[in-house]
Amino acid sequence: METIVMKFGGTSVATPEKIIGVAKRAIKEKEQGKRVVIVVSAMGKTTDTLLGLAAEISAEPPKREMDMLLATGEQVTISLLAMAFKQLGHEAVSFTGWQAGIETESVPRNARIEQIHTDRLEAVLNSGFFAVVAGFQGVDRIGNITTLGRGGSDTTAVALAAALKAEKCDIYTDVDGVYTSDPRFVNGARKLEQISYDEMLELANLGAGVLHPRAVEFAKNNNVPLTVRASYSDEPGTIIQEVVTVEKNLIVRGVAFEPGIARVTVTYNKPFNGSLANIFMTLAENHIDVDIIVQSISEEFQPSVSFSIKEDSLEEVRRVLDDNKEAIGFKSTEFEVGLAKVSIVGSGMVSNPGVAARMFDILRMSEIPVKMVSTSEIKISVVVPGGDMEKSANALHEAYGLG
Ligand code: ADP
Ligand code: ASP
Ligand code: MG
Repeated sequence: METIVMKFGGTSVATPEKIIGVAKRAIKEKEQGKRVVIVVSAMGKTTDTLLGLAAEISAEPPKREMDMLLATGEQVTISLLAMAFKQLGHEAVSFTGWQAGIETESVPRNARIEQIHTDRLEAVLNSGFFAVVAGFQGVDRIGNITTLGRGGSDTTAVALAAALKAEKCDIYTDVDGVYTSDPRFVNGARKLEQISYDEMLELANLGAGVLHPRAVEFAKNNNVPLTVRASYSDEPGTIIQEVVTVEKNLIVRGVAFEPGIARVTVTYNKPFNGSLANIFMTLAENHIDVDIIVQSISEEFQPSVSFSIKEDSLEEVRRVLDDNKEAIGFKSTEFEVGLAKVSIVGSGMVSNPGVAARMFDILRMSEIPVKMVSTSEIKISVVVPGGDMEKSANALHEAYGLG
């Protein structure tokens, strides 16, 4: 019997009525002769509320306890959904992450799934029951509850689909597919019928919150057919797959953006071999994600290196750099907050020179200053003032004919 995984996000399970609706939708799938796994997020804005509670107690709460706290959100939803199935005359068993056998690395708040022991899930599915699994959480080797990073329920769903060799994984959400840009902020954003794993991975990594990046990674590596679709309608949604037929001959397929970026600049008296390695190894040892890196060495100015980070890791970066000033061997640091990253993505860029030049020209015409740049074969990202983020995204979306 084929297995399918259906995942419902926070908005889609925000009320008891919506949870009953999810159960009804899953029952329809089971009636087609499938084994059905449902992965759910915490109800509505529960995770934000839990974060707020912790912030009232501490500015830097212990990460292990944050995982313990945040994992409760999803546990509420799984129990209610299992009750809804029972109420509708069907059998279902709910599973927290550890009960579902989801083993992760020991990195609190941003753990990667390492393996899934599916025996308990298989047993329940083989008995003809629904398996209801809490998204966003797992357990490390020594039994600590871990969470997978904001938006991580998508990754739970795709990882389970891979482990159970599911026929497909459907991500049900509050938008009816993947758009050329976030439709909440960009006028004329258009729904894509299909998009490649690589393009989706870039968009997700660059801030398109519709899918958790690691979910796309899992889908690509395990060839899981992945669909993003609306939980409120029967529209077909967007298919994410290996190869796509491009609808129009567009070089740029999408525009992504991310607020809350900070730039850190570290200045030296003089450069020495290993100064870059020292900084970035120290940051990596502290599990701090660094994004764009720009080194500047010239005769006239003191040598420096700038890099971008997420604003919410700023305090930690400040502390780690201060604590290791001697060992790293730098002179001073400077921090700029309130920035945003705006990116264009498309596999057609590889063979089309001049895409970056055009992008800078569009931003110049909109009088938007570019603070940092980073390019790859299929994307170009710029860091701009946070107040210019939406304007930049709209200008690029329009200029590249995505609407
Ligand atoms: P869920 O709670 O279901 O996981 P999310 O809020 O995580 O939902 O993701 C859905 C949201 O992603 C949409 O409401 C939309 O505003 C945002 N989004 C960002 N970029 C895109 C995009 N390119 N296409 C569609 N939605 C996007
Ligand atoms: N509840 C978690 C969050 O809000 C995980 C998820 O929804 O995917 O980030
Ligand atoms: Mg999400």
